[in-house]
Amino acid sequence: MIQTKHTNKIYKMGEIDLEIIKDLNLEIGHGEFVAIVGPSGSGKSTVLNLLGCLDKPNSGEIVVDGVDVTKLSTTELANFRGKNIGFIFQSFNLIPVLSVYENIEYPLIMIQNLPKEIRDEKIMHLLKEVNMLEQKDKFPDQLSGGQRQRVAIARALVTEPKIVFADEPTANLDTKTSNQIIELMRKIQKEFKTTFIFATHDEKIVSAVDRIITLVDGVVVDDKRIEL
Ligand code: ADP
Ligand code: MG
Repeated sequence: MIQTKHTNKIYKMGEIDLEIIKDLNLEIGHGEFVAIVGPSGSGKSTVLNLLGCLDKPNSGEIVVDGVDVTKLSTTELANFRGKNIGFIFQSFNLIPVLSVYENIEYPLIMIQNLPKEIRDEKIMHLLKEVNMLEQKDKFPDQLSGGQRQRVAIARALVTEPKIVFADEPTANLDTKTSNQIIELMRKIQKEFKTTFIFATHDEKIVSAVDRIITLVDGVVVDDKRIEL
């Protein structure tokens, strides 16, 4: 599903090149539930953004679902992302002037030319799935953190992506809500065989995943599969 080969990411700071990701060689299969862990500043978000086609590497390959995404133009990359990838962020990133329903509808309007009835069917199904049906006409500022993240999960899933990337999705949530959100994502992964890739240092996520990839200073130092 995802493969990187000798992938490097460099940020220029004035005269100096900072090597943020060094020789990343990863293979992540279809339907995996994976966490990328490591200290703050180790490059977790950078890896997620590279794999999620939000950012391009300086060298090396990134193959997602058979496509070398490093060869795509910015427009092609945006289209590819829209069709195949969903994102969930720490700060939820909902659009404040849109209702819950409209936030979930937004990616469908942006990237897919679907008739209203079909959009409605998908949105209503996901609202039920994330248990937010009763809040569908509310606005983000009328919701709790956990409810906002449920909406963000529905928004990430509405295009039926093959892969969902979640960057510290529980960082702004209490323990009980975090556990509910993790359970919800696990349920979705089982039901739809969606690949989930987390960047996190939350122990609750780490203990829920099937595989833990550890990054230190932009280098993978450990890659462990959890036996069930
Ligand atoms: P993590 O998510 O593990 O905390 P990041 O991927 O956000 O780590 O950052 C890794 C390193 O890259 C950090 O040292 C950070 O300061 C640096 N970095 C991230 N984004 C940029 C940028 N746009 N320009 C320069 N340095 C950056
Ligand atoms: Mg980060």
